[in-house]
Amino acid sequence: GGFESLGLSPNMYRGIKRKGYKVPTPIQRKTMPIILSGADVVAMARTGSGKTAAFLIPMLQRLNQHLPQGGVRALILSPTRDLALQTLKFTKELGHFTDLRVSLLVGGDSMESQFEELAQNPDIIIATPGRLMHHLSEIDDMSLRTVEYVVFDEADCLFGMGFAQQLHQILTRLGENRQTLLFSATLPSALAEFAKAGLRDPQLVRL
Ligand code: AMP
Repeated sequence: GGFESLGLSPNMYRGIKRKGYKVPTPIQRKTMPIILSGADVVAMARTGSGKTAAFLIPMLQRLNQHLPQGGVRALILSPTRDLALQTLKFTKELGHFTDLRVSLLVGGDSMESQFEELAQNPDIIIATPGRLMHHLSEIDDMSLRTVEYVVFDEADCLFGMGFAQQLHQILTRLGENRQTLLFSATLPSALAEFAKAGLRDPQLVRL
């Protein structure tokens, strides 16, 4: 049940080691093999459980390489700027030995600097829903159809903060062939409905 049993590539093991992780946390042990198998997941996990690495390690493993013609391949939605920044930091650390490119789209930073980042052809976008929708409305040819991997992080907070309508709009912009992960401390009924609409036969993981 350690990281070594997951069959990750050497550059992923180097990133995990560099970050100082020796053994997976319980939520990581449960979710990582399912995510690596390609299934959708609803995981009941709180901050502090190691949930961020639980979705980042399999995601980075599955993406691993920057494809020059790729388009956006992964989208992580965070309820707050602070959580998005923290997730960006973890992504850069765990993905240190990959050549994947990451962009942050959050409120409070200028749209112009984010336009420039998007022009660099990022593989991974970490965003708050409001700012992502703003970009989608400003950039005519911005597409999320190429996205292979979507994470709704702290989904109960995303919903609690009134992002429900934007989240449903984002769902309509995504392609069919994607893996969708929803991490949440709680599963209120509005969120369960959303999971039904946005996820395909999700496996439910709880501790
Ligand atoms: P999170 O729940 O994602 O906010 O993570 C909480 C804290 O646990 C962060 O400081 C992580 O860096 C740390 N962490 C996550 N996974 C591991 C692990 N396998 N071993 C040690 N620390 C970890």
